[in-house]
Amino acid sequence: MARIEFRNIAKRFGDVEVIPGMDLDIADGEFVALLGPSGCGKSTSLLILAGIYLPSGGDLLFDGHVVNDVEAKDRNVGIVFQSYALYPHMTVRDNIMFPLRFKKTPRDEAIRRVNDAAALVQVGELLDRKPSELSGGQQQRVALARALVKQPQLLLLDEPLSNLDATLRLSMRTEIKSLQDELGVTTILVTHDQIEATTMADRIICMRAGRIEQIGTPDDLYDRPSSLFVAGFIGSPP
Ligand code: ADP
Ligand code: MG
Repeated sequence: MARIEFRNIAKRFGDVEVIPGMDLDIADGEFVALLGPSGCGKSTSLLILAGIYLPSGGDLLFDGHVVNDVEAKDRNVGIVFQSYALYPHMTVRDNIMFPLRFKKTPRDEAIRRVNDAAALVQVGELLDRKPSELSGGQQQRVALARALVKQPQLLLLDEPLSNLDATLRLSMRTEIKSLQDELGVTTILVTHDQIEATTMADRIICMRAGRIEQIGTPDDLYDRPSSLFVAGFIGSPP
């Protein structure tokens, strides 16, 4: 598990400065929600953490070590996207096993890890199926198993529940929350849904236009919003 620090992290695309310079400290084992309107830089922040985007400035630290130059595959970060992003031609088993291909995991160990990850999210019965033979909720569970199979030090969830129907979304909130408690993995959940953020996270980071507007516990943001923007965002319907 990891403690995460952003030290003046910036990101520009061409002339557009999406994140001007962000400081952030996330504790080992913490569950943090990145909350904010569409386009404010939530996914960009996650992709920087995953090593998929390089920051244009600043330093990213895992457990006190600068990881700016550490490639995505060497960061041991699990990531789940809204769109599931499963490989359609592969079985569920091979999808979940995929992240182990870089790790020279012995075959027996890989199979054990896949079975364990699948059992954690209750897709153990579906290992021989293809993604097209699964419901949206089942596909998202498989994506979660794939993110967990490496026993990541950091779990990144980018609007993982947005494509699910309302009932499933509610039950998956509880399930992901208790899974995170059990594993103790540092987790960052991106969402534009304030109910999701307040029910799942230890702390909420409210972002606006590439900047952190406020960081605090759900109660802090709800009871003592630092600005009208935060109050409006937390208080409005999803
Ligand atoms: P969010 O996830 O909060 O909705 P994003 O992080 O996806 O927002 O995007 C933040 C801003 O950065 C948006 O204006 C978006 O258009 C821009 N952006 C994101 N990725 C790229 C990219 N690869 N190239 C150019 N602009 C990008
Ligand atoms: Mg996004």
